[in-house]
Amino acid sequence: MTAPVVEVWWAGVDQARDEFERDLDEVERGRLAAYVRDVDKARFLLGVTIVRRALARRLSLPAANILLDRTCPECGKPHGKVRASGGVELSVTHSGDLVGVAFADRPVGLDVERIDPAVDVDAVARIALTADEVRDLSRYDGIAKLSAFTTYWTRKEAVVKATGEGLRGDLRAAAPRGIQLLELDAGPDHRAALAVTSAEPPVVHIHDATHLLS
Ligand SMILES: [Zn+2]
Repeated sequence: MTAPVVEVWWAGVDQARDEFERDLDEVERGRLAAYVRDVDKARFLLGVTIVRRALARRLSLPAANILLDRTCPECGKPHGKVRASGGVELSVTHSGDLVGVAFADRPVGLDVERIDPAVDVDAVARIALTADEVRDLSRYDGIAKLSAFTTYWTRKEAVVKATGEGLRGDLRAAAPRGIQLLELDAGPDHRAALAVTSAEPPVVHIHDATHLLS
């Protein structure tokens, strides 16, 4: 078994530009138009653009020619998780100022969360964390507690994204066997985690999306 390679691209939400819309397909244009807040439009546009341009680079194709599938497995409408063809698995995440996309040759989950002071950590922890995690969290106070909680949250989100269980999965479960889970550096205001279905730790390449977006 060889270690899987995961490519992770990060962009700042202020890097979105109107011209990116040119490469969007009909479904993506519809979704972009449906967002009310500019910041939500920017996050979505950046996520799509990173997906399209990174795949375009890999396949030597124009970004607009990349076929993406969002068919919902439940109802067939195009609002499901985004999928590419050709054995490429990907995961898109955005929160606060950051947008990230991970690519791998096997199911992968990337999650970033801004550390949000408005979260009632104790209340959410009781519902979402295991007893061990709640105990661990009780060692912290204030911003350190919030930060530790956010780290747990990103790990769980990354795992459910990689396993495809969505939020219907039990968030209190620890990482299942066969899932590699890593924390990624996302700066002081955010926490990020990466999960990949693999028996071995992945090789992770982190990229700044600035070149891709210029
Ligand atoms: Zn559906």
